[in-house]
Amino acid sequence: MQNQSHVESWYAATANLQLDLPPLEGAVDTDVCVIGAGYTGLSTAIHLRQMGYSVTVLEANRVGWGASGRNGGHVGTGQRVDQERLEQWLGLDRAKALWQLGLEAVETVCGLIEQHDIDCELKRGNLHVASKTADIAALPAEVEHLQKVYGYDQIRYVDAAELKQMTSAQGFGGATLNTGCRHLHPLNYALGLARAALAAGARIYEGSRVLSYTEGGQITVRTDRGEVRARFLVVACNGYLEKLEPRTAGRIMPINNYMLATEPLSEELARRLIRDDASISDSQFVINYWKLSADNRLLFGGGESYTRRFPADIKGFVRKYMLRIYPELADSRIEYGWGGTLAITLKRMPDFGRLSANTFYAHGYSGHGVPIATLAGKLLAEVISGTAERFDVMAGVPAGQFPGGTLLRWPGLVAGMLFYSLRDRIG
Ligand SMILES: Cc1cc2nc3c(=O)[nH]c(=O)nc-3n(C[C@H](O)[C@H](O)[C@H](O)COP(=O)(O)OP(=O)(O)OC[C@H]3O[C@@H](n4cnc5c(N)ncnc54)[C@H](O)[C@@H]3O)c2cc1C
Repeated sequence: MQNQSHVESWYAATANLQLDLPPLEGAVDTDVCVIGAGYTGLSTAIHLRQMGYSVTVLEANRVGWGASGRNGGHVGTGQRVDQERLEQWLGLDRAKALWQLGLEAVETVCGLIEQHDIDCELKRGNLHVASKTADIAALPAEVEHLQKVYGYDQIRYVDAAELKQMTSAQGFGGATLNTGCRHLHPLNYALGLARAALAAGARIYEGSRVLSYTEGGQITVRTDRGEVRARFLVVACNGYLEKLEPRTAGRIMPINNYMLATEPLSEELARRLIRDDASISDSQFVINYWKLSADNRLLFGGGESYTRRFPADIKGFVRKYMLRIYPELADSRIEYGWGGTLAITLKRMPDFGRLSANTFYAHGYSGHGVPIATLAGKLLAEVISGTAERFDVMAGVPAGQFPGGTLLRWPGLVAGMLFYSLRDRIG
């Protein structure tokens, strides 16, 4: 089977490592077989190797070919769902445990980058900007809540006047500045994780799509040219799972999200767009998110679609969202446009779980996967090694099942998504 190259993107054009790993041929015995070489699978492999397990990763395409090589690179604190909602839903103690795991996720990303010397433009800070009156009004209380209840001191409120000094982005009346957040080059982070996993002794096969697996004491995982016999299995395919595992497919919804990269901008213009090199995200239902690249391009994400097909003109599709926020970029050339598929859950919290005593999965990070998928790898390694406590904190959050299950979930969801994105547009 032919493995596919990375999609054409600014990330692929600036990848700093070329990994040409062979496909699986013949039979391999291993302690743990991992399906998928994105952050979930690669972090699982690194953490398991640290514990002494032999690990074999099977990737249908290339390392970082999926969402891990195409995303916005924002590394947010906490969880995708905000703390006050988690408190109402799950109670204060569980909300606090989830907040701590969210902070640990960011630390894990930074720790792996430092420990394995991964060159991926790691930077600090996120401005979360709000446009609707109610959202702006809620910001000071959100900040105070995190400071008082969680003792978190890396976040502060930014009023409209200060925000104007920090960014020329239009349409926002207030923000929070969270200096605990990071941002990075996502594909170089994924490639660096793979290099670290290989150096630690993991085997990674590219161009090796898993076609089926058996369960039981010994698991057999089949590709078209080989098979892996393992004691444990980790399914880490997220938005690209397709029909491989029908038992979990109804818990996630694949969503396409899109990005563009402008031409390199002058230093003056770049500093006007984002003064302090933070990442920026807004509070719309379909989030717009952006940051600068090392060579002063604006990397802007916006717009979603819910069918399999990507728009024919991705650059034009995303540019309209960008121009609403930065009309001054009307004359800037758009050099790259690309899309990727992520997985969301009904409740926007990730879905971690067991399919049997020795088969595990984690997916559905709902747009917060750079930190949480990295953390998932650590927790998957823990549960495989016999310590289930922290994995179960995540697995215990009911992420929900899409009505209609695997096959019928599309129409209702698409209608719902379109309704909320329309509400964004009409304010
Ligand atoms: C455009 C975009 C922007 C985003 N922005 C952000 C952001 O700024 N911050 C953030 O935190 N999150 C963001 N996300 C989400 C984030 O990228 C994902 O949550 C994260 O990368 C998921 O990692 P993963 O390893 O679970 O999945 P993936 O990286 O998608 O990897 C899954 C892998 O499984 C492989 N696979 C699938 N089926 C098989 C099979 N049968 N056999 C073998 N291999 C298989 C695929 O080829 C793929 O490489 C964004 C996503 C997109 C698409």
